[in-house]
Amino acid sequence: MSKKNYIIGFPRIGEQRELKKVLESFWSKQCPFSDVTKVASQLKEKHWNYQKDAGIDYISSNDFSLYDNILDTSIMLNAIPKRFQNLKDEELYFAMARGNEKNVAMEMTKWFNTNYHYIVPELSLEDNYKLNSQKTINEYNEAKKLGIKTKINLIGPITFLALSKRVDRGDTYELLGKILPIYEDLLRNIAKLDDEILVQIDEPIFVKDNELKVLSLIKSVYDKLANVSANIKIIVTTYFEHSNEATKILVNTPIWGIGLDFLYGDENFKSLEIIKNSKLKLIAGVVDGRNIWKNDIEKTITLLKVIEKTIPKEKIIISSSSSLVHTPFSLKYEVNMDKEIKNWLSYAVEKLDEITLISKLFFNGKENLDKNSKIALEANKKASKSRKTSALIHDNAVQDRVKNFEKFSRDGKYKDRIKIQKNLLGYQDLATTTIGSFPQTPEIRKARREFKKGNISNEIYEREMKDYIDDCIAFQEDCGIEILVHGEPERNDMVEYFGEQLKGYGFSQNGWVQSYGSRCVKPPFIYGDISRPKPMTIDWITYAQSKTKKIMKGMLTGPITILNWSFVRDDKPRSEVSKQIAVALSDEVDDLQNAGIKIIQVDEAAFKEGYPLRNDKIKIYENWAVRDFKISVSSARIETQIHTHMCYSEFNDIIETIENMDADVISIETARSGNELLKIFKQVGYKQEVGPGVYDIHSPRVPSVDEITKQIKLLLEVLPKNQLWINPDCGLKTRKWKEVKPSLKNMVEAVKIVRNELSN
Ligand code: GLN
Ligand code: ZN
Repeated sequence: MSKKNYIIGFPRIGEQRELKKVLESFWSKQCPFSDVTKVASQLKEKHWNYQKDAGIDYISSNDFSLYDNILDTSIMLNAIPKRFQNLKDEELYFAMARGNEKNVAMEMTKWFNTNYHYIVPELSLEDNYKLNSQKTINEYNEAKKLGIKTKINLIGPITFLALSKRVDRGDTYELLGKILPIYEDLLRNIAKLDDEILVQIDEPIFVKDNELKVLSLIKSVYDKLANVSANIKIIVTTYFEHSNEATKILVNTPIWGIGLDFLYGDENFKSLEIIKNSKLKLIAGVVDGRNIWKNDIEKTITLLKVIEKTIPKEKIIISSSSSLVHTPFSLKYEVNMDKEIKNWLSYAVEKLDEITLISKLFFNGKENLDKNSKIALEANKKASKSRKTSALIHDNAVQDRVKNFEKFSRDGKYKDRIKIQKNLLGYQDLATTTIGSFPQTPEIRKARREFKKGNISNEIYEREMKDYIDDCIAFQEDCGIEILVHGEPERNDMVEYFGEQLKGYGFSQNGWVQSYGSRCVKPPFIYGDISRPKPMTIDWITYAQSKTKKIMKGMLTGPITILNWSFVRDDKPRSEVSKQIAVALSDEVDDLQNAGIKIIQVDEAAFKEGYPLRNDKIKIYENWAVRDFKISVSSARIETQIHTHMCYSEFNDIIETIENMDADVISIETARSGNELLKIFKQVGYKQEVGPGVYDIHSPRVPSVDEITKQIKLLLEVLPKNQLWINPDCGLKTRKWKEVKPSLKNMVEAVKIVRNELSN
């Protein structure tokens, strides 16, 4: 039978995070590097076998990585920044990723709209690039020895350049002439490996709105690459959105196949007609590579039949929508999960079975299914049906309330609100505050852990948290900070804390997804209609307020951040899920103000992360995201001051959207840029109050009084004193008390100095 199903790439961290463990042990010098390579080989073998046993036809090599596959590509091209050029092998590799005693690491940033971070290549015209094909070739041979013939995964040259930066200024695409011959060389080496070889070249940059200049590169690049050797078949894969502009060009090149995402790139359907008229195979991404829901197989077959109306069956190959690196490994470790909920989920390993089942069903027909497949199909139907009807998911009361919820903004205009608030709250110009969390000490982490396990009583737990809150308050009062926070000791994570208390939210035990290098996150998941069975923060905040005469800020995480840092149900639009969260939060805001809390901060740390990849979709996102932030605080009375916090510095493109959120005060992360990034607020005549971080909390360094004084003065060059708040640039939970205490004292001292100077 011809080969019919395909995986773009597989997770590499290991089902028990084996790679993480051995890497971290190596970095802390507890094992030799040979241990790392040993574990890596074992993992690769295991991962290949998982795919083989599931019946996957196209299994990849070179999708594994010890840290990041963009970094691997830099190594492959010998694109090594000058500061690391004296190093070699693993020392070089990990220094590039993590820095060393002498040199800072290369920058890291998010891979498209996922939470995976890649290492940003640093390029320059004067550097000499040359081929290092070792990893690519070895990994292919490694699999071959095990009897598995793989396709070879590469990051495409256009995407590589798009994601790189030039250290010598200038356009990265100017370097195509240096890089492309290396890719050709590599393909020549690959061609020697076997009679016929498939090479998958990832070009996800094709799903963005590319300039014509970029699109004009595609034809010549892929004409060249596809002509290197007659025994290489090239597949260009794109994902996360449609790539119609690029597809139009690719059909006129001699590549063998094209991979399109039909789940996140609806518009790809528009390309079917032109693909039909070409020789291309279509790798149809129909099983979600970046979410955890079981595929509704009947629905997928319907989708494939739509494709089949244009593309003949023999040209279709069934695939994951993207690499499965964005999903957790296997459900088998979810032993504590509610059975009904677990039955709706599918992690990477389970997705393999879905893909093979879909392909059997689609190509051979239901009547020709073997017995096990028939059973699997029935089970799948049952699970889909249960998801459509389960009372755990569908809550009519929530749906009705949210549908009819029409309080889209709070009462009063900003200019009227702020007068009343200033009067009532009585804070001075350059008011001092912090972003919410104080250091998470080993003791409070332990208390939370033990409490969760049931090892300590509620009383003991509460006492410990309250003692910590008392300490936070005492320190802030002593230090002279004006608007206090309780320190967030009860929260291990700003999303998980709320997720655990909201109905409709689930948690996994082993749902780890690689975020960067050895770091993994375990996002909670929203499976059902969201509601708030009871207040979530009131007890802690009112306790804290009762211990001080100063104003205590209430702390919430905003709807968009909760959404963007969770796996979200796929049976409802994100905008609807987000509105449900917002409505639940509006009740919390109301409860807080009724309990006497006068300032409430609603954090939107991940607001920017939700931005769509295509410009024409941005407005839609902004509309509902702003709507839902506003809904979440719509219950706030005129005199209740609403703050928000965002962990960004770049606001140029979104400043009007930020303004539309209508928060009274926003604290932002501009500490590292002097006052440059604040200027946009002045340019657009931003009215609300702003707290630009005056020092960088991401570093253990204690900023001096002098330094902060200078920073405040810089801010005053841009915005007037009565519009400015003074605070660190993010929460302090990752810092140590010994850094936080002197830093905040210096901050308060600096404010005093500046106020003095201003009043003279
Ligand atoms: N209030 C949160 C904290 O201080 C905000 C965290 C964040 O912005 N990432 O920890
Ligand atoms: Zn922050």
